[in-house]
Amino acid sequence: MLTYHSGLCCGSLQLGWHRAKHLGVARALTPNPMLIVCDEPVSALDVSVQAQVLNMLEDLQNEFGLTYLFVAHDLGVVEHISDRIMVIYLGKIVEIAPAETIYLEPAHPYTEALLGSIHSGNPRSERKRRFLGGTVPGPSNPPVGCNFNTRCPYATDLCHCEEPELKWCAG
Ligand code: SF4
Repeated sequence: MLTYHSGLCCGSLQLGWHRAKHLGVARALTPNPMLIVCDEPVSALDVSVQAQVLNMLEDLQNEFGLTYLFVAHDLGVVEHISDRIMVIYLGKIVEIAPAETIYLEPAHPYTEALLGSIHSGNPRSERKRRFLGGTVPGPSNPPVGCNFNTRCPYATDLCHCEEPELKWCAG
């Protein structure tokens, strides 16, 4: 397993983004890895450069049969590169599903809110905007019950005392 960090790219635009990009990718691919961890590889880049990096990663994936574990805060970024998406809130998994399902039928209100914050211009992603209110608790001091209960528009009394289990939903 190897990690492809954004560090080579994001701080070095003045030095030549293409050179940094190829150096980083070449280094990651040298030992012929089966899995590459892409840790926020495009988070500090502008939209057009993001698209270039994502296209490059997709091309490499197709050419070498690579598997990526892609970490991002923006569901708009991972839409086209992901087969399966895991959504995490305050360090806990709230939803895992095939990418298609996540974008068409999100099951968790946090996933719904993340999708509502995408500014892609893509009608598929232009969902009803749902701005989350409430306070964002610190991960070291999560709320009792469901850890999303301070921000969830559907929270009930039960959500403040019982932590829900991750359940398999066929469909
Ligand atoms: S607060 Fe309640 S309704 Fe909202 S995600 Fe948690 S368990 Fe579900």
